Amino acid sequence: MAEFLASIFGTEKDRVNCPFYFKIGACCHGERCSRQHNKPTFSQTLLLLHMYQNPVHFQKQGVQFTEEAVQKHFDEFFADIYCELEEKYGPIDELNVCENLGDHLIGNVYCKFRREEDCQKAVDALNNRWYNGSPIYAELSPVTDFREASCRQHELSECSRGGFCNFMHIKTLSRDMQKTLGVRTVQHFTDWNKGGRGGPRGGGGRGGWGSRGGHDSRDKDRSRDRRRY
Ligand SMILES: [Zn+2]
Ligand SMILES: [Zn+2]
Repeated sequence: MAEFLASIFGTEKDRVNCPFYFKIGACCHGERCSRQHNKPTFSQTLLLLHMYQNPVHFQKQGVQFTEEAVQKHFDEFFADIYCELEEKYGPIDELNVCENLGDHLIGNVYCKFRREEDCQKAVDALNNRWYNGSPIYAELSPVTDFREASCRQHELSECSRGGFCNFMHIKTLSRDMQKTLGVRTVQHFTDWNKGGRGGPRGGGGRGGWGSRGGHDSRDKDRSRDRRRY
């Protein structure tokens, strides 16, 4: 019986544990899900909720960003996050950013650290910091395998569910930026085993980051209840 339960844990057959939370670290039902979201007590993976702001969602009528502009904005965002997290908290195995539009996945940034203790350090510190004028919401995530979590259809061509798919649609980093950072990303299945690390370090002036000082009275809702799911 125990073996059976272990074999179905986090799958569709599991009536107790939510397969979406288990695999993707986010579920469209949020806290109201009828199945359990077992928050990990330790993990290599950090989730930064809704941190990437796709300019496409902010374009006003009549103003259209070019694909190049959106890609450049994304590349800079990615590099900013990657360098900051690696420099401050420890070596990163992979960094993935969702371009989904659903409330539970929009803008989610998943960072898998090489060491669990670095991940914990990052969660503790980041929950007291700001990025681009907004408080950061960081948590340990159960996601370990991004190939399992991401949408195959999206990788191969177009996903019929579009931005509202419940699997990760991981935004592709430009090849140039991949090379510059030496990162391994999930989006190109053929590149999966390419190693390579290192890249630009240092350089202050990364504009978005800030610390949350004591003077800040903006109350952070730890229960996450105010988030719409
Ligand atoms: Zn759920
Ligand atoms: Zn999809």
